[in-house]
This record gives sequence, C-alpha cells and structure tokens, in this order.
Amino acid sequence: MRNCSICTKEYDETSERSDYAQAGEWLAGEVWDDAGTLCPQCLENRARLVMMYCPEYMS
Ligand SMILES: [Zn+2]
Repeated sequence: MRNCSICTKEYDETSERSDYAQAGEWLAGEVWDDAGTLCPQCLENRARLVMMYCPEYMS
C-alpha cells in the first residue's frame, strides 16, 4: 500500500484502474511529473478536470 500525495489516503497501486484513472496516470507522467504518487481516485479527478478545462492535454 502507498499513501496518496494529494489526499494522503492509502491506496493499492496494483488495483484495477478506470479509463479516467489511466488518463490521469498518463497526465501525472507527462504533465505533472508525479506519476506513482497519487491514488486512483485523485488520478480520476485530475483527468476529469483536465478534460473540462484543458482538453488540449488529452489530444
Ligand atoms: Zn488521492
């Protein structure tokens, strides 16, 4: 288990990821440079925000 660097909750880094969480993971690596430190929920939230406000990141 790891602790998320945003919400500090424990999460299982091997658990199944939703499409949004996978997109968030990609953004963490390519844009924010904090891949591997966020829980799937925070990755999902980030991906949703980016799709709403900065869709150019996702293209
Ligand atoms: Zn989190």
